[in-house]
Amino acid sequence: MAGYRDTLNLPRTDFPMKADLPGREPERLRWWAERGEYQRLREQKRGRPLLILHDGPPYSNAHIHMGTASNKVWKDAVVRSSSLLGFDSPYVPGWDNHGMPIEIQVTKEFREKKLQPDRIELRRRCREYAAEWVAVQRAEFERLGIWGEWSKPYLTMEHAFEAEIVRTFAGLAEAGFVQRGMRSIHWCPTDRTALAEAEIEYQDIPSPSIHVAFPLREDAQGVFAGLSPAVEAVAWTTTPWTLPANLGLMVDPEAPYVVVRHGDRHLLIAAPRLEAVEKVLGSALPEVRRVAGRELLGVLFEAPWGNASRVVDGTPFVSMQDGTGLVHTAPGHGKEDFAVGLREGLGVVNPVDDAGRFELGAEPFVGRSVLDVDADVITWLGERGRLLASGTLTHSYPHCWRCRRPVIFRATRQWFMMIDHHDHRERAMTEVERVKWEPEGARNRIRDAVRLRPDWCLSRQRSWGVGIPALYCESCNAALLEPRVMKRAAELTREHGSDAWFEQPVEAFLPSGFRCPQCEAAGPFRKETDILDVWFDSGSTHRAIQVTHPEFGEAWQRAVREAGRIVYFEGPDQHRGWFNSSLMVGVGLTGHAPYTDVLTHGWVLDRDGRAMHKSLGNVIAPDSIIVRYGADIVRWWALATDWRNDVRVGDEILQRVADAYRKVRNTFRFLLGNLDDFRPEHAVPFARLTPVDRAFASHLAARLERMREDYRNFLFHRVTDALLDVCTVDLSAVFLDVAKNRLYTLAADDPARRSAQTVLWRALHDLAVAASPILVFTAEEVWQSHPGLVATCESVHLSEWPEHTREAVHEGPAGDDWAFLLEIRGIVNAAIEPLRAAKTLATTQEAEVTLTAAPPTIARLAQLGGELLGFLLVARAELIEDLDATDVRVEVQKTSLPRCERCWTHRPDVDDTPGQAALCSRCNRVLAARS
Ligand SMILES: [Zn+2]
Ligand SMILES: [Zn+2]
Ligand SMILES: [Zn+2]
Repeated sequence: MAGYRDTLNLPRTDFPMKADLPGREPERLRWWAERGEYQRLREQKRGRPLLILHDGPPYSNAHIHMGTASNKVWKDAVVRSSSLLGFDSPYVPGWDNHGMPIEIQVTKEFREKKLQPDRIELRRRCREYAAEWVAVQRAEFERLGIWGEWSKPYLTMEHAFEAEIVRTFAGLAEAGFVQRGMRSIHWCPTDRTALAEAEIEYQDIPSPSIHVAFPLREDAQGVFAGLSPAVEAVAWTTTPWTLPANLGLMVDPEAPYVVVRHGDRHLLIAAPRLEAVEKVLGSALPEVRRVAGRELLGVLFEAPWGNASRVVDGTPFVSMQDGTGLVHTAPGHGKEDFAVGLREGLGVVNPVDDAGRFELGAEPFVGRSVLDVDADVITWLGERGRLLASGTLTHSYPHCWRCRRPVIFRATRQWFMMIDHHDHRERAMTEVERVKWEPEGARNRIRDAVRLRPDWCLSRQRSWGVGIPALYCESCNAALLEPRVMKRAAELTREHGSDAWFEQPVEAFLPSGFRCPQCEAAGPFRKETDILDVWFDSGSTHRAIQVTHPEFGEAWQRAVREAGRIVYFEGPDQHRGWFNSSLMVGVGLTGHAPYTDVLTHGWVLDRDGRAMHKSLGNVIAPDSIIVRYGADIVRWWALATDWRNDVRVGDEILQRVADAYRKVRNTFRFLLGNLDDFRPEHAVPFARLTPVDRAFASHLAARLERMREDYRNFLFHRVTDALLDVCTVDLSAVFLDVAKNRLYTLAADDPARRSAQTVLWRALHDLAVAASPILVFTAEEVWQSHPGLVATCESVHLSEWPEHTREAVHEGPAGDDWAFLLEIRGIVNAAIEPLRAAKTLATTQEAEVTLTAAPPTIARLAQLGGELLGFLLVARAELIEDLDATDVRVEVQKTSLPRCERCWTHRPDVDDTPGQAALCSRCNRVLAARS
């Protein structure tokens, strides 16, 4: 072809092979921003059926990591693909601003400057700090090509938002959900605060494991009459520091108990535990008397710190799998203990202060931290003859999510949302069944989370958050949730932010003439100083955002009215977190879940499947990938993995993603190169495409249609798989190979060339559109590289899914035609290959083939006419019918036809007169037309 190079239609395009995404992407971001492209998209979709993705707010205190990055990319793909499929899909990103991590960081800053801020100063700095990180994260998310209302995101610390949080609390309080009560709750003595379930992490740690004797104090029924020396009950515990708070011993009334002899003592244990206790004490324990568990109820033993320890019915908490069958019960220090204590009227003892130090009642350990006192308590018990055995045990123990130190159970007065108020739990369970959970297994997780969740402890003893608008009467100490006070608190919060509650005097919130509803006193009153759990903030986002973003609120209301979809899309920890808190608030106030669809994605792990941690040195920052490869690579990585599972990331994985990207990019480049002279008006109608082109166009349409379905189901990894496959297999490996000769050597406007271009044009258009939610930058770059594409729509991100993907599929069994053609091509190539390997043939073009097959197969091939040679890339093909053939037989021989010097095909019409260029008649015509 060399000498005729200038006479060929070789590919021509400015679309560069080298992507240079790190350099080009920021320019594209500016280009979109200048043109207001996102706003145009919003306007274009207004009034369409709604699909709302409500953004779960990340916490504003650090750079984004691979987890937050992939979460946002997945959400962006939901929003973009929904828009592409014709939905109105507004997206308002948000941030969670209040809470402990920021308060702790800011407190540290002040401490380093040796400053002691008051509450208001501390809160101001927290607000600034949160705003600084919002700005950082916003830039990082935008750099990933995420589209949304970045100029007005929702912030939980925005005044109007805080006011809605107060109003939401007031609504629940007025509906009777909120109560103040003594509860044994998770308490972090290090951070001095109550912790929510979602703030607890379990870690395996070694704990003491001791058996303690409780001597008999009072035996009114004479259960142990006649025993001397007096019996001692044996209880087992792994938390010796809770013994000063002991008020009872739980038993199983249905189980048999035995008095046994141990040296010169009488011990009481459950019969099924006898063998295990014998092992622990290292001696046989002969049975002296047998007692039914039920008979023990009401007997008083003496706890180590001198309290009466009453035997109570411990159903269902007494296990015969461990311990002694008599369970040490400290209602002030355990959830089950508290529940049983409440039921049995044991009362509560809690000699531990906010910092986890013993108070009076735990002598001689007053002032000691309960976290490091166990060894001394054990010694102390030993000195008093109370210790029967002591060892250690490794078990799973709750730790604080923030400081990673062990937490304790501690009875305190807190505000609670009562989960069983008005059958709330049942109603929430009913709503769970109405929501679509994806993957389906997530339904079980939320069911468990709702079924098992305790009452929601709403109060925190911290500063950075929304104040609880409750009052205390100084006269009678009643805790008051007064609707008019709460309403006023919301109004002042809207005006001045949540500082108002802490800054303004209590009078600012009192209605005139207000009296304590309990004692009629006209004052004084004092404001609650606790703040709301940040999970209450995020549980309220679905209400607050509708007020702070009225247009989004209208869309939300329309979605509810018109049965549109409202989607939440977060990680698996949100079954106990945001999915749960939003459900509690939504069902509490409206009877309904705030969402219709909940998607739960997996964790992002390192290449070996480990969580990423600074301490492991395996953290990969999104920015480091963007700088090296570009944001489209981060996006392809996130979207190419099935988000329903955990997602791994590492150098090799990213290298593979970059390779896949290069292949897709090169295919786009090849398409653009061969369409340089093509304009949409050159397109050949489907019916006039050549048979091979028609078959391929239908195949392509069918693949695109499947991609549409996958987008509809948010199965992005299937779309990326299909895109890569279409580019590398369908296009690069087959169709482009088959069409090359026509594209390069025919006259530019030859119908057979335009036919191939029409198919490539569809491929270019449809694949750019299909790739646009994934490779947001590259798809736009492709789009802007062809004036024909820009003429159909100014930006790929404003285009809609091509309708013809649906039509073409219904034009007949055409999809099958392509499969049939590929099969024949495979058989022919397999027959040619040995001759090429033996160097009998230099190229397949030198082959003449004879195909023998059953008449229907031959008829189908005959329909291709002259195109068959071009499709098989051979010099000559003979078709022979064989009525008995069950497969296709191929015979190959080397052609004796001369080769055209321009198009390199062997043809009978090549004029090979010596001394002049050997050209086929087709090439001769092309050349004649050019001159
Ligand atoms: Zn802590
Ligand atoms: Zn009062
Ligand atoms: Zn030729």
